[in-house]
Amino acid sequence: PRRLVVVGASLAGLRAVEAARRQGFEGRITLIGAEEHLPYDRPPLSKAYLDVLDDGDPQIPSFRTEDTFREELRVELMLGAAATGLDTDARCVIVGETTVPYDILVIATGAGARSLPGTDGIDGVHALRTLDDARAVREALESGARTVVIGAGFIGSEVASNANKRGLEVTVIEAMPTPLVRAIGAGMGTAIAALHEQNGTELLCGVGVSKILSDAGRVTGVELADGRVLPADLVIVGIGSIPATEWLTGSAVRLDNGVFCDEYLATGVPGVFAAGDVANWYNGLFDRHQRLEHWTSAAEQASAAIHNALHPESPKPYATVPYFWSDWYDSRIQFVGVTDADEIRPVEGAPGADRRWVALYRTGDRITGALAVNGQNVIMKYRMLIMRGASWAEALELAEKRKVAAG
Ligand code: FAD
Repeated sequence: PRRLVVVGASLAGLRAVEAARRQGFEGRITLIGAEEHLPYDRPPLSKAYLDVLDDGDPQIPSFRTEDTFREELRVELMLGAAATGLDTDARCVIVGETTVPYDILVIATGAGARSLPGTDGIDGVHALRTLDDARAVREALESGARTVVIGAGFIGSEVASNANKRGLEVTVIEAMPTPLVRAIGAGMGTAIAALHEQNGTELLCGVGVSKILSDAGRVTGVELADGRVLPADLVIVGIGSIPATEWLTGSAVRLDNGVFCDEYLATGVPGVFAAGDVANWYNGLFDRHQRLEHWTSAAEQASAAIHNALHPESPKPYATVPYFWSDWYDSRIQFVGVTDADEIRPVEGAPGADRRWVALYRTGDRITGALAVNGQNVIMKYRMLIMRGASWAEALELAEKRKVAAG
């Protein structure tokens, strides 16, 4: 192959480009990105980037400089350029009036924030997905905004933690009766959400938002379905994300909760692969298609997709135990595995009460998940067990050993 085109200039796109050079690809590489910025890291946007800083100015979490893209990776950057279509017969990506031919294409367009209907153009209402979003949110926090977070998910909760750390008034609203059901399974969300209450952030569950109130185009508050009104200068909408596949509509690439691909990250269309938040790929370890929105798998998928594109004679399936982390207040939350389980059992500490606790997820007679709050030294051990299909008994044995060791 002579020409690699990667669409989406973020984590997965960057890792794809790096992997191609590392794996000896000598052809031409074009990296196409809708944002104006060089690829930057998203997790810090709702964490360190929002922290109070002595000198006021946070660093942009860029991965690389423009020079290293051009000189070290020999990549042609097309930034501020959104792909608008794909012609798989002619093998080219369409970017407005321009067409970019490819031999290999990696789709890495990630996901965009889901927005709340009727809030477009209201000043002070933000999602948090991009650097531009984070700048606006940071500015609002700096000016002491009364903050309302809609959706008690990970990103919204991280923003709430930061607002709280700054001593600002902050309320989190969750429409479901318990938070984080989809992310970590029923039962555990309440235990995690206890961090909000313990740190003095108000959390309202089981109540919807009826209206965002505004005056002269600026947000003034949030009206709840039960009639209550919460005054606000900043509203963070954290209600999930949508895979960025609009540009592929009508192309030969199958869309089904993102870009549908096999265990090799291949779409079935010659030369076309996907990686990252946009990819709904077959994870053989759990015998299911999954579209993860996690940092680690996005990076790994990109390099797996490149290997399979460059070595069609020896493709390797990509399978993983999903992993993500999130930082709330001064606690680190980590989850490995899958959330549907026959049983979730606390094995260390009391969920929702102790500063450190660990819970394990059982499916049949196997361990299939683990959730830890401040359990950095143990979570990857459980991940290893899940990876090799260890039994539930073995997982409990490990938990028991740890208890003994901890005295
Ligand atoms: P994205 O990062 O979404 O990037 C896709 C890029 O493609 C974007 O730059 C977009 O503009 C571009 N694009 C879209 N459409 C087009 C188009 N048509 N043409 C050209 N370009 C296009 N994960 C964790 O595991 N732990 C965390 O603590 C954590 N924290 C996070 C905090 C925040 C605020 C956010 C937003 C995400 C967080 N994540 C976290 C998730 C993690 O950042 C993502 O999994 C990761 O960014 C996925 O990378 P990606 O390259 O697949 O997609």
